[in-house]
Amino acid sequence: FNSYPDGYPEPGKTTVYDTTETIDLDTVPLNGGFLLKTLELSIDPYMRGRMVRPDTPSYSPPWAIGQVIPSNGVGVVLRSENPEAKVGDHISGFLEHKQYAVIKTLEGLRILDNPNKLPWTAFLGVLGMPGKTAFMAWREYSSAKKGETVFVSTGAGPVGSLVIQLAKIDGLKVIASAGSDEKVQFMKDIGADVAFNYKTSKTEEVLAKEGPIDIYWDNVGGETLEAAIDAAKLNARFIECGMISAYNTGYTFPIRNFFQIIAKSLSFHGFIIGRLTAKWDSEFYKTITPLVEGGQIKFKEHIYEGLERDGEGILAVQRGWNRGKAVVHVADE
Ligand code: NDP
Repeated sequence: FNSYPDGYPEPGKTTVYDTTETIDLDTVPLNGGFLLKTLELSIDPYMRGRMVRPDTPSYSPPWAIGQVIPSNGVGVVLRSENPEAKVGDHISGFLEHKQYAVIKTLEGLRILDNPNKLPWTAFLGVLGMPGKTAFMAWREYSSAKKGETVFVSTGAGPVGSLVIQLAKIDGLKVIASAGSDEKVQFMKDIGADVAFNYKTSKTEEVLAKEGPIDIYWDNVGGETLEAAIDAAKLNARFIECGMISAYNTGYTFPIRNFFQIIAKSLSFHGFIIGRLTAKWDSEFYKTITPLVEGGQIKFKEHIYEGLERDGEGILAVQRGWNRGKAVVHVADE
């Protein structure tokens, strides 16, 4: 991490790819730990929130200038002096964005069990943090009932696309928005009853025609949230997952029609996924893993080849240029 962006992150300036540090894989001391080769790294919208100056209020600490950026990743153990991590084990959890790392313990990391040979990238998307976000908050807050109507914004991303599929399993009518016609087609393919491009159709007009809505899954904030409040039924539930429309414009979130929360008795459920995992983790894997393995739940990925394209991926996710879960493929096995 090289400098604070004022607007969108800039590859090569906000983050830089640095090749000055090298290690000898055969001789680097492990000191009781293990040597991990990074295979895949996740690029997520929240990373923009870590690129803020230290005095900015946040729920997670900002990155320090000069630090190697971290995110969820998958790696394979090459050498080990730690009996818990065997050579060949695949490990996921928070990893630094570098090709190799010597790691002391498995604390906070997980050895992956992958008998059906899913791509390792799946453990960063549909079976990783974004998948958990969709599943756990849907179960915790939606109170979904068959026949209800839900509106999902950013419906083509890893979070939104799983929400769409969960809502269809629960028997809801799904209205979904995304920023390109290709994404609209994907949302239709995974079951959305109404899918539209918010850049070429007006959200308030679509919701006026296809609503009113019982549930809004918010990934965007801003005018989309205002349109959802206008289209909400009495007692509608709002699942406040993200507000990406303001991540690159100063993190301020004004809402024109906020009073409707009172007038319509709306429930707003903001959440941070880390706070739901203890409760829902085992049910998530039990429910979602077989559906993914059996092909009933679909997912799409956008792979950036090579660690040197990390910054490009970070920008793409903020701009909407990613067409599926953004992952940097660092190396083959
Ligand atoms: P995606 O991979 O879908 O990437 C983000 C997408 O946001 C872009 O592709 C783009 O899609 C859309 N977007 C970008 N700018 C705007 C804008 N100005 N207006 C509308 N849409 C925009 O992301 P994820 O599925 O990983 O995450 C979705 C949301 O969930 C994010 O807001 C994220 O912060 C949030 N989140 C929250 C968590 C929590 O714990 N609360 C955990 C994980 C994610 P498009 O082309 O459709 O515009």
